[in-house]
Amino acid sequence: MKIGIIGGGITGLTTALAFQKCGISCTVYEQAPKLTTVGAGIWMQPNALKVLDWLEVGNAVRSEGLQLNFPDLTYKDLRSFRQTKSDLSKDESGNNIVAIHRARLQKVLFDALPKNTVKWGKEFKKLQVHENNVTAQFNDDSQTFDLILGADGIHSKVRKEIFSDTKLRYSGQTSWRGISNFQIPEEYSRKGIEAWGPGVRFGFSPISKNETYWFAVSKAPEGQSDPEGNTQKLLLNIFKEFDPLILDLISTTDKIIRTDIHDLVRLDTWHNNTVCLLGDAAHATTPNMGQGGCQGVEDAFYFATTLSACENPEDAFRKFEEKRRKKVDYVVNNSWRFGQMAHSKWGQKLAILMMKITPETTMKKQMQKLYQVDIVN
Ligand SMILES: Cc1cc2nc3c(=O)[nH]c(=O)nc-3n(C[C@H](O)[C@H](O)[C@H](O)COP(=O)(O)OP(=O)(O)OC[C@H]3O[C@@H](n4cnc5c(N)ncnc54)[C@H](O)[C@@H]3O)c2cc1C
Repeated sequence: MKIGIIGGGITGLTTALAFQKCGISCTVYEQAPKLTTVGAGIWMQPNALKVLDWLEVGNAVRSEGLQLNFPDLTYKDLRSFRQTKSDLSKDESGNNIVAIHRARLQKVLFDALPKNTVKWGKEFKKLQVHENNVTAQFNDDSQTFDLILGADGIHSKVRKEIFSDTKLRYSGQTSWRGISNFQIPEEYSRKGIEAWGPGVRFGFSPISKNETYWFAVSKAPEGQSDPEGNTQKLLLNIFKEFDPLILDLISTTDKIIRTDIHDLVRLDTWHNNTVCLLGDAAHATTPNMGQGGCQGVEDAFYFATTLSACENPEDAFRKFEEKRRKKVDYVVNNSWRFGQMAHSKWGQKLAILMMKITPETTMKKQMQKLYQVDIVN
């Protein structure tokens, strides 16, 4: 069977690795001319680490990143909303969140693939669906496949080719991300922090000994851009009442990426007879639960194992959706609600109150459910 994966991001590369593990061959077509070195950090949570361990790259990811032993929600002066007795973000096997540079994560995934699995500089343009196969047109040639997987992200062209009327939903919030070399105090060397102030949030964690990844979120009209060359000034003003460490992180960052926060309005289905969508292309979520990339990694595991157990691809597409829908819907909906609460005056007060009074056992149970992946080795 000839399988083409469009998009060599976290989802596309992990899916190729999962196919390799299941003895299925595939090729990844990525528009970028080579593996990128720019980007920001990302938190990979225990559900993703379970899959990465199954793919035998978990330890490489751990050693290229940093294991956080305490993600914490705080006030703007970095006082915790609540002290918990146990680390809620640890799973039953002891996996912690790993904070890692995105480019290093992609390199670990890429290095584990057989040579020539990824074709760089291949921009997907159009699809032609035939009765039993499908032709993809790229910037420089056309190729016919038995199956195409669209792992080309939130603005997926593959999705637009198979479903004409899909929509993104703007959250009313924009984000900035950066990596600073500022030496953070020892007490934060294994922590992930998200600090809340009126209508704004600032998160950070180390991703290596000398690098701290940070993100900032604020309400903003869709499509607005920063005044030319003045992003730092703008952020220093927005976060002027926050802990000085936050201001240090902003002012020592050279490259800051701004991204409006959207999710994808729920699709009725993720596939037609020869094409299936995975990761953000199928179910992009707002980043409030730090789960978008992790869900793409889970897709890789469930898709490859389901396809290898099914007689025909259409059965696999259907079964894959059955396995994934409930969790993906949970993540997309809760992440949306959490983001809306965090940026409204009363919503924020209510969210903090709920975090303070919810029993620790209930919180732990919710996290364990999120981290569940049905891997049988
Ligand atoms: C502020 C912010 C913070 C986040 N933090 C986290 C976090 O901590 N943890 C987490 O799990 N998730 C996080 N996410 C979400 C995460 O970034 C995404 O869910 C994840 O990157 C999706 O991976 P993907 O491979 O599906 O899509 P993408 O990462 O978008 O990758 C798609 C790939 O397809 C390629 N491509 C696109 N179009 C074409 C084309 N036409 N032809 C060929 N190639 C193409 C792109 O170049 C890219 O390489 C965050 C998101 C944001 C905005």
